[in-house]
Amino acid sequence: MKSGKIIIVGQGVSGTLFSWFCEQHNLDFILIDNVIKNSPSKTAAGLINPVTGRRVVTVWMDDIILPFAEKTYGEMGRLLGIEAISKMDIVDFFPNPFMKESFLKKMNQQAPYISLAKDEQYLSEYFNYEFGTGIIDPAYIVYLQQLLPAWRQHLQAEGKFIDEAFDFAQLQVSDTGVQYGNILADTIVFCDGVAGSENPYFNLLPFALNKGEAIIIEAPDLPAGHIYKKSMTLAPFGEAGIFWAGTNYIWEYDDEHPTEAFRKSTEQNLNSWLKVPYKIIDHKAAVRPATVERRPFVGLHPVYKNVGILNGMGTKGCSLAPYFASQLVQHIVRQHPIEKEADLARHTRILSRSQL
Ligand SMILES: Cc1cc2nc3c(=O)[nH]c(=O)nc-3n(C[C@H](O)[C@H](O)[C@H](O)COP(=O)(O)OP(=O)(O)OC[C@H]3O[C@@H](n4cnc5c(N)ncnc54)[C@H](O)[C@@H]3O)c2cc1C
Repeated sequence: MKSGKIIIVGQGVSGTLFSWFCEQHNLDFILIDNVIKNSPSKTAAGLINPVTGRRVVTVWMDDIILPFAEKTYGEMGRLLGIEAISKMDIVDFFPNPFMKESFLKKMNQQAPYISLAKDEQYLSEYFNYEFGTGIIDPAYIVYLQQLLPAWRQHLQAEGKFIDEAFDFAQLQVSDTGVQYGNILADTIVFCDGVAGSENPYFNLLPFALNKGEAIIIEAPDLPAGHIYKKSMTLAPFGEAGIFWAGTNYIWEYDDEHPTEAFRKSTEQNLNSWLKVPYKIIDHKAAVRPATVERRPFVGLHPVYKNVGILNGMGTKGCSLAPYFASQLVQHIVRQHPIEKEADLARHTRILSRSQL
């Protein structure tokens, strides 16, 4: 008889949300994570932006994914007694007149989420800017720095968390279930982020890893109720007066560590943009588990049907993880279909070549 148990590997935003929905469905599970400091989930701003790029294009599945994320993080925050998510606008400082023009053009096409600030000068006490500001609303900040440890403590209190590096040598997969050490389960689901690109079950998937950095600043005079955007993003980072400033996208890198070059260029940008004093208090870097098609990997392996994956969140883990974690749980429990563009089934051919 099947035990119904699930082993989850990884507690970034993907594993956190996947285990949340396992708990919501009263499933028996155990989560294994080696608690590294510089995972992307611990480096991210936590921003959920309804539009993307300088052409302010509405993000994929915005009408489903964004309200779902808001509701889910709200419920998690209430259970854990923390503020997990805040709704706020993004103030988009136009870097030049052309950007303002293209924003206005988009507005005139009735694009959702965007408008012009009523008073162009309302932030002139805090920032240097010449070409006005657009407003993107609503956006959200997910406070991952608070949410991830609070969820880990919750799981620890329930005896559902193992703090160790997952060891593939101890994993046995058969047609009827999986065994890890002395843990027997029906299914194992890998939410292992960048490590997924070296996971023997999923290393053939088209990952397109890229590195990003951020500095954390203390700027007590800066109003905290907005996210600010110019050549970088400046976002409230969970504590009064603390902001996250980033980022960059580097596809060829020597290691995952912070670089002096990023720190210098970010400092230069902040010095010319901010009118208020600030102090750098931290510098972070991590590699994003991005994919060639910019869509996540969600589903069960076509050959090893008891082995699942929730990965490939790229730059948008905070918005994508809740919806696709829920879909994967529904898929495992009730065989519900997974959204086609995210479904692992699109890679059946390549994964059929997996040799273990
Ligand atoms: C600078 C930067 C800024 C970003 N800003 C944003 C943002 O504002 N908004 C947004 O939505 N996204 C942002 N992202 C992207 C976001 O961070 C990722 O999409 C997301 O964190 C991916 O989460 P994950 O849980 O899939 O992977 P990860 O965060 O990598 O989590 C994987 C977990 O698995 C664990 N693990 C892996 N292998 C093993 C093993 N063998 N044994 C045990 N544990 C293991 C790791 O320790 C880790 O805890 C940003 C990324 C970077 C780098």
